[in-house]
Amino acid sequence: GTLNLKDASLLKTACYIDGAWVGKGAIDVTNPATGEVIAAVPSLGASEVRSAIDAAEKAFKDWAARPAKERGQILRRWFDLMMEHQDDLAVLMTSEQGKPLAESKGEIAYAASFLEFYGEEAKRVHGAIVPAPTNDRRIVVLKQPVGVVAAITPWNFPAAMITRKVGPALAAGCTCVVKPASQTPLSALALAELGERAGLPKGVLNIVTGKASEIGGELTANAKVKKLTFTGSTEVGKKLMEQSAATMKKISLELGGNAPFIVFDDADVDAAVEGAVASKYRNTGQTCICTNRFLVQEGVYDAFVEKLVEKVGALKVGNGLEDGVNQGPLIDTAAIEKVEEHVKDATSKGAKVVAGGKAHALGGTYYEPTVISGATSDMLVAREETFGPVAPVFRFSTEAEAIRLANHTPFGLASYFYSRDVGRCWRVAEALESGLVGVNAGLISTEVAPFGGWKESGIGREGGQWGIEEFLEVKYVAMAGL
Ligand code: ADP
Repeated sequence: GTLNLKDASLLKTACYIDGAWVGKGAIDVTNPATGEVIAAVPSLGASEVRSAIDAAEKAFKDWAARPAKERGQILRRWFDLMMEHQDDLAVLMTSEQGKPLAESKGEIAYAASFLEFYGEEAKRVHGAIVPAPTNDRRIVVLKQPVGVVAAITPWNFPAAMITRKVGPALAAGCTCVVKPASQTPLSALALAELGERAGLPKGVLNIVTGKASEIGGELTANAKVKKLTFTGSTEVGKKLMEQSAATMKKISLELGGNAPFIVFDDADVDAAVEGAVASKYRNTGQTCICTNRFLVQEGVYDAFVEKLVEKVGALKVGNGLEDGVNQGPLIDTAAIEKVEEHVKDATSKGAKVVAGGKAHALGGTYYEPTVISGATSDMLVAREETFGPVAPVFRFSTEAEAIRLANHTPFGLASYFYSRDVGRCWRVAEALESGLVGVNAGLISTEVAPFGGWKESGIGREGGQWGIEEFLEVKYVAMAGL
């Protein structure tokens, strides 16, 4: 490896179980920008995953019994350490994931913010006292940690998808076993190293890498795991939900989307184009809330497409470690094949490529930032998440038609729209069937707001006061005999 880290001990290639680093490199971690193997991490089997679950279960009692303030202080130290090592963590992330360094730094700050927020929120897990129907008793409602949590996370946000789960889980008093995506385990292991330095007791946080189906099988079958929290594809999410049924685990699922981005005739078109680029091309189109479909009203259609093409033409594609690059490579060859299939399908059905439209001259998994005009509902880009730098632009004429098109999908994670009419802003925001709506905004993620999907985009919420509830059980205590 040629990773240039100030603190070389942040490059961990062993798993973290019960406070010990275990296992030897077996699964290569590849830099998608160069194809170079930068490290190898262990391929653990079911029995090692069981030992991680046992460690988490053993650690649970003591961790849950600590004052919330003390758990919060450890999370706060962990936040401070992440920010102190932001540069190194960003280099690690860009090297295994491909996103531009500036985006990696942004993700580290975003990821750390969940540790800060939930370190504070730990102190605000309030129960309740309910007025009783008779005078001889009191009705008390307690909130208690659910127990051992299994977290399975994807490669597109290698740090934030972990802290968004582990932050509230640990704050609530739960302990965790985390399985990061095989493409991006180094960010996860570096986080564990910093968690240890912050003072997490052994067993409270465990990280296991290896074959997804085997680890996922144990995490879902094991009765000691009380809660599963997952971010990834809808297909795998459904499978994990099924597997969790036998032991009735609590579940949170953050799955795929098919985000519409509507531009009405009364929009500020320049602002819409700005929001469009931010929402579509962030992480080279590889986020679950990236716009998948642009729906543009006929009066501003041509102007929007023209301005979008101009902005997209200015994007710089390359190795994310290089200065000025804002479009990295796609994660792997399967990703680029899907993008190519979607573009080919659209053009074969009459759409027109007005920017990009093919693999980038840099080779590898680089793809040109692409805009397609004349997209229609019969195309794959209308139905499936492209997960790449392709912006298909659909045309509509009325508000009702826009809402119908936007909601015409089994998914419901994010939606965006641009309008300057305040009545329309309320109407459309309320009509969209999704968990997040950006009104005149293309970037809306923050640790203080609830993030989660409607319909087949998932179950549960992460972020804000909602995120910690997912890791708490409610207990009604009837205090009688007064
Ligand atoms: P993506 O398209 O983002 O790779 P996946 O759902 O395939 O979405 O992956 C998200 C996470 O789920 C990764 O950590 C991956 O290794 C894991 N995963 C994939 N298949 C399974 C499975 N059968 N059981 C458990 N985890 C899985």
